[in-house]
Amino acid sequence: MCEAIGVEYLGKCEICGKENVELYKCRVCGRRVCREHFRGDKGICVACEETMCEVCGRKLAVGYCARCGRLVCEDCSVERGPALLCIECYRKLGTTP
Ligand SMILES: [Zn+2]
Ligand SMILES: [Zn+2]
Ligand SMILES: [Zn+2]
Ligand SMILES: [Zn+2]
Repeated sequence: MCEAIGVEYLGKCEICGKENVELYKCRVCGRRVCREHFRGDKGICVACEETMCEVCGRKLAVGYCARCGRLVCEDCSVERGPALLCIECYRKLGTTP
């Protein structure tokens, strides 16, 4: 029998509380969740997916871009006064003042 990558053991999903399900470990928060609440392509749980940076999709977001409203992480954001801009909006604003 071949095991799927990321499967740890049977247990309780930490998101929906379903028992005796195959659990996958989220690489961001470390929670063990069922297949339904796991994004295998990213290796993260759905809770983290909701707070993930929408620019790179690899890090947790720290805020919203003041211009396009996307969630951005520290790597993909630039502080502009009191507001936060994503690097894409920042670059656009940079070329069109
Ligand atoms: Zn679940
Ligand atoms: Zn997670
Ligand atoms: Zn990012
Ligand atoms: Zn933006």
